[in-house]
Amino acid sequence: MSFPAQRPRRLRRSEALRGLVRETRLSAAGLIYPMFVCPGTKVRKEVSSMPGVFQQSVDQIVEECREVEELGIPGVILFGLPESKDPRGTISTSAQGVVQRAIEEIRKANLKLLVITDVCLCEYTDHGHCGVIENGEVANDATLQVLAVQALSHARAGADIVAPSDMMDGRVGAIREMLDEHKFGEIAILAYAAKYCSGFYGPFREAADSAPQFGDRRSYQMDPGNVREALKEVALDIEEGADMVMVKPALPYLDVIRRVREEFDVPVGAYNVSGEYAMVKAAAQKGWLDEKRVVMEILTGIQRAGAGIILTYHAKDVAGWMK
Ligand SMILES: [Zn+2]
Repeated sequence: MSFPAQRPRRLRRSEALRGLVRETRLSAAGLIYPMFVCPGTKVRKEVSSMPGVFQQSVDQIVEECREVEELGIPGVILFGLPESKDPRGTISTSAQGVVQRAIEEIRKANLKLLVITDVCLCEYTDHGHCGVIENGEVANDATLQVLAVQALSHARAGADIVAPSDMMDGRVGAIREMLDEHKFGEIAILAYAAKYCSGFYGPFREAADSAPQFGDRRSYQMDPGNVREALKEVALDIEEGADMVMVKPALPYLDVIRRVREEFDVPVGAYNVSGEYAMVKAAAQKGWLDEKRVVMEILTGIQRAGAGIILTYHAKDVAGWMK
């Protein structure tokens, strides 16, 4: 079975042949585009470390959502930059909040886009942590109620899927219970199940204005060295009612994506995060990398590792290239 009977190069001779035998086919149908909603009208402010990504007021969000839908991308995930912050992030639960208003306007625009919302407190707390603080620590159980009420407010506004990213223990169960109690049994949960404490979130903190004002997130986000623990987190989230799970970031955790894909039978997503995006953009701007080529290679790699859903700031570019 070896040379000369087997010549793998036979199947690489033309694009038609390579396409025929390609094992991983990237498609816009698996992409989700992240967006940042801010107060005001006609606001469209580029995030300096993330060229092509903007903080936008609700009216602008709706405009870009039209573009996203036309490109064949099935959904967006919304992050909010609120008008004000407080220690408990209470504004995150308001029906008048930026995210809630954005959902309503996207719905009014009659778009078929799936609207996913990030559920967390870090964008809404003045201390920048993902939970409420008690005795100088991020208090797990006290945070669950705020998260559940926030998720409920997103569902009321018209979200299709809520995506808790806080990494508190028990939050998927708390959110599921709150949604079901209020007759939102059809709203799905995409859990950031294995979210690592990563340096690759740097540019996001500028985009979402959510850097912690003291300490760091190591007491709730996962340690980069762990994969067995990721499987435990995923198992718990599914047990609590998660419909889909996610690994975040993507590139340094491809083995985690693979393990999760192999061990669980739910849709698996990966978040190709801000730092991963910024590295490519910066190198491409300097002419050091061929942007289109490396982006396609990166997303193919994430899908090949096992992620059927990829949340990525490259989504619009990729969908455009593939049209
Ligand atoms: Zn957070």
